[in-house]
Amino acid sequence: MLTEYHIEIMFESLGDHLGTRALSVMTNANIKQDRFAGQFGHDEFHFDNNAFAKTDAYIEEQRALVIALLKKNDAPSAWSAFGRLTHSVQDFYAHSNYITMWLHRFNGRTPPAPPEVDPLDPNLIHSPDLRSGKTYPPIEWMYFIRRLRPLSLRLLPKDSHAWMNLDSPEQGFKFEYAMQAAIKRTRIEYEKTMTGLSREMIGLFVG
Ligand SMILES: [Zn+2]
Repeated sequence: MLTEYHIEIMFESLGDHLGTRALSVMTNANIKQDRFAGQFGHDEFHFDNNAFAKTDAYIEEQRALVIALLKKNDAPSAWSAFGRLTHSVQDFYAHSNYITMWLHRFNGRTPPAPPEVDPLDPNLIHSPDLRSGKTYPPIEWMYFIRRLRPLSLRLLPKDSHAWMNLDSPEQGFKFEYAMQAAIKRTRIEYEKTMTGLSREMIGLFVG
């Protein structure tokens, strides 16, 4: 997902739950995952290349880090760990075919509005057909240069990130479903993380 949408998702999902400082540290850590160095060899940051198990493990590693850091009274580092976790779960909806499979169920009928999307349908999450976009450097890089995008799409296979992504509204109506699923999922991850915390740790975490 493009940076501006990660920011929007963070504010939309957690804006009412967190202090300004906590939310801004989380949001910074979230968008930092898309830095240049975070784009190479880090499929687990973005759910790329079908790295589902690796990304799930990364998410739980960051959640465990949140708890360990709060125990040490280090709220800013805990906020950063949670911010990194949110980046991965948000990219899941933009980089996998989850939304396409969810919409496919309505089979020609008008699907429910985007806010009705179920972000954690177990049949889809565990579906053998679940895929995420593959990256094909260096042709994939051309996709990010607007002038070269049409050429890159001609050269890249349909299972590439370039063809599969729902990173921005340019990708059509499915993007709004990816946004709404990411907002709901971010809240779910927040609640899930909070259940592992003592009262004092919750106080620190919300900022
Ligand atoms: Zn990303």
